[in-house]
Amino acid sequence: MKTSRFLDPARNFAEARRHSEVRLDPLTGHSSRILDFPIKKIDREDLSALVEGSRAFCPFCPEVVELVTPKFHPDLLKKERYSQGEALCVPNVFPYDENGAVCVMCRQHYVPLLDFTAPMLEDALSCCFAYLKDVVVNQPDMIYQSVNWNYMPLAGGSLVHPHLQITASSSSTNYYTDMVPALREYEHTHGRDFWQDLSDEERASGERCFGATDDITWLTAFAPLGVFDVLAVLHHAHDPEDVRGELLKELVQGILRVMGYIDSLNMYSLNMSLYFLLDNSLFVPHLRICPRVSIPPFGTSQINYMKMLHNETLTTMRPEDVCNDLKAIWEGRAT
Ligand SMILES: [Zn+2]
Repeated sequence: MKTSRFLDPARNFAEARRHSEVRLDPLTGHSSRILDFPIKKIDREDLSALVEGSRAFCPFCPEVVELVTPKFHPDLLKKERYSQGEALCVPNVFPYDENGAVCVMCRQHYVPLLDFTAPMLEDALSCCFAYLKDVVVNQPDMIYQSVNWNYMPLAGGSLVHPHLQITASSSSTNYYTDMVPALREYEHTHGRDFWQDLSDEERASGERCFGATDDITWLTAFAPLGVFDVLAVLHHAHDPEDVRGELLKELVQGILRVMGYIDSLNMYSLNMSLYFLLDNSLFVPHLRICPRVSIPPFGTSQINYMKMLHNETLTTMRPEDVCNDLKAIWEGRAT
């Protein structure tokens, strides 16, 4: 805990104290700061101009999607496109890597957070997993696999039409680069699995664990990567194709609840990643969801020099408070 002292003009220059807490991630040591600022409830944003304006040209709307989106190269994938229900997975025309795809989640151009349904998300994720399964058939070194979501432009989404971004790469991102050696070190030091220990500890304390079954532990991260950071650990899965049936249903149900919580805070945007690492049994698949906000009155970005150049997260929401709210939702007590 850090205390900053200054002379406060609002109180006739009497001494004022402000507190902040530096927290270290129990695995990677990544630090985040929880700031003790009064939290003002965000006003609900009117998105109608953004939504209407974005209809003028949308490559993902059903009238044009088959005509204007690319097809997978036959050297690389078995199918030209992957589909499941309304979900359609096609190559990303602006790839970050050898294998980048987008999954158009549904036919509807704009879906408010509360209007996403379980079948919609189950189909979209299954469609991504089918693509990921096929990627490694001809390219076995594409072991860093993830399904990601930038929901709305505030979170980096370049189109309003709901779509996921899927990557399968031979190159690690910094996330994996930090985590994989730390997992190895943890196992070497403790002789145990980090994810099981994390889950056992968090379930026992209950401070940050708001949902737990045999298959998934739902937590708020102790040292969050965003305003808040929901972490779901899929204990018995390893590859994307393991996430199906009841496990997929349970995961989607949780995602929908978190989306409902984000909406209840008048936030409307989020980033989500579901991470896999195929060649390493120490890496257990997990999901993170962080909401995105802008700060009134100027629409200031939440990403300032701290995140951008120091890789340090700032938030005013204590993970334990967020956990309490999510517990109420999980237990059906939320209003
Ligand atoms: Zn559209």
